[in-house]
Amino acid sequence: MVGRPCLAENNDSWPVCELFDSESEANITANHVSLATSPPVEPVHGSLPTAYAKQDTASTADVTTDKCQDKHDIPVGIQYAMDINQYRDYNHLLRVSAYVLRFVRLLKNKEKCKQTLPSATELNNAELLWIAHVQREYYADTITSLRNNTKKYGALSKQLKLFIGEDSLLHTGGRLHNAKLDYYAKHPILLPREHHLTRMIVHDTHVRLKHSGPQSTITALRERYWIPSIRRIVNNELNKCVTCKRVDGRAYCKPLTAPLPRFRVIEVPPFNVTGIDYTGALYVRNPNTSNASKAYVCLISIHLRSDSCCTS
Ligand SMILES: [Zn+2]
Repeated sequence: MVGRPCLAENNDSWPVCELFDSESEANITANHVSLATSPPVEPVHGSLPTAYAKQDTASTADVTTDKCQDKHDIPVGIQYAMDINQYRDYNHLLRVSAYVLRFVRLLKNKEKCKQTLPSATELNNAELLWIAHVQREYYADTITSLRNNTKKYGALSKQLKLFIGEDSLLHTGGRLHNAKLDYYAKHPILLPREHHLTRMIVHDTHVRLKHSGPQSTITALRERYWIPSIRRIVNNELNKCVTCKRVDGRAYCKPLTAPLPRFRVIEVPPFNVTGIDYTGALYVRNPNTSNASKAYVCLISIHLRSDSCCTS
């Protein structure tokens, strides 16, 4: 049999995938509910929020960690089940991820699927998993420093007052703690500028705003995400938008004229080139007798000058 060696063993010895653990997924849902219904924990730069500290061992960050490997050294994580670079549409990525998560959950709990389309909670969970993976890939040192409270923050962490929120994601601190705004507007999720997921989110926001301009796209993005050098990223993505290119692109320009052919520019003596054309028969009516008769036309063209394009 070809496959992993663990498949030949008993089911009890198979690796356990903590990514799709039911308890952890319940925590993900609970985090979403708490974000929407309860006031968020105010961030303190350099220290974990109380709520996060209580859920530290069963949070979304743990269920997506790259270090979560079993005794057979099988990598566990949504990034190993799907290749994000094969997706161009953000909603498509979330829907497929939600189906993958549901499929594994049903297998694990031995349940039957009662719904077809992914729910909003499943889509949010899929989004959280991908963002957590991207942040862990780009800001691993910052996350480790914040978790261990080692005070060894990078320049970006100090500048943005980064902290780990209730959803186990990196958020920016800012100065809007007392504003009556949404939690994500006061503390946006940090995204790396160069990642494919960031570009997909930028393009999705641009399309969701009916292909609006850069400033509107940036304003909508900052209601939820913080992307360093966001204006440059947004401009780059908008320049690639085919729909905007069709509307805002420049009109078709007439191509440059080709050089004149040789026979029109070289000097030759008169009558060197002649032409004749013969047409007919045409019916011509005599006005005096009203009788129709045939007529023929003979056209003779003569080349007289060398510097003219029409010399006949
Ligand atoms: Zn567009």
